[in-house]
Amino acid sequence: MIIAVDGPTASGKGTIAKALAAHFGLPHLDTGLLYRAVGRQVAINGGDPDDAGDALAACAFPDTLLDDPELRTEETGGLASRVSIHPAVRQALYERQRAFATQPGGAVLDGRDIGTVIAPDADVKLFVTASVSARARRRWLEMQGRELDITLDEIERDIARRDARDINRADAPLRAAEGALVIDTTHFGREEAIEAAIEAVELVQRG
Ligand code: C5P
Repeated sequence: MIIAVDGPTASGKGTIAKALAAHFGLPHLDTGLLYRAVGRQVAINGGDPDDAGDALAACAFPDTLLDDPELRTEETGGLASRVSIHPAVRQALYERQRAFATQPGGAVLDGRDIGTVIAPDADVKLFVTASVSARARRRWLEMQGRELDITLDEIERDIARRDARDINRADAPLRAAEGALVIDTTHFGREEAIEAAIEAVELVQRG
């Protein structure tokens, strides 16, 4: 069974994808991490994330970079959203994601274009979303204890900027795949969101 989980930043899609993987005993890939690694590698190389050549060169990042805690920062998230605009970058990361999706036994992948581009043949497609203010608040709470120089307002503006970039890009824009079940987590806590997703998968399984 292939489960595709797409949605904007801080919607809860990562939490949901991880929980679904544990519940159904499937391997999980956070595809945003790949784009974050490319963004981080561009910075390490001293390159320009808006330059297609620099961004493509950074796709050859070492696998050890995937464990770098720097990948989780807002700054790297911003770089990821800039490098992800380039079609050459998306193409370079395609095979790795496709191979993960089609491994025997199935998999759970979360990102922006899993149901539309990477695995349009997924058995279950979920689109997880929430209001910008709910997502900003979550990010802000998550950040307590680190990166304290960022205010809630700044996070909200940053999320809106990244949404706009993801939604308006020409190649693989963020949108719900045809037939995707939409889960709006604005008024959901963690457990409610996970429960809704498990129910959605079971609903599809029952046909
Ligand atoms: O999900 P996460 O916030 O880690 O993703 C970082 C950025 O990577 C997103 O803002 C998006 O621009 C890009 N991305 C993408 N396609 C994916 C996953 C992430 O374009 N499948």
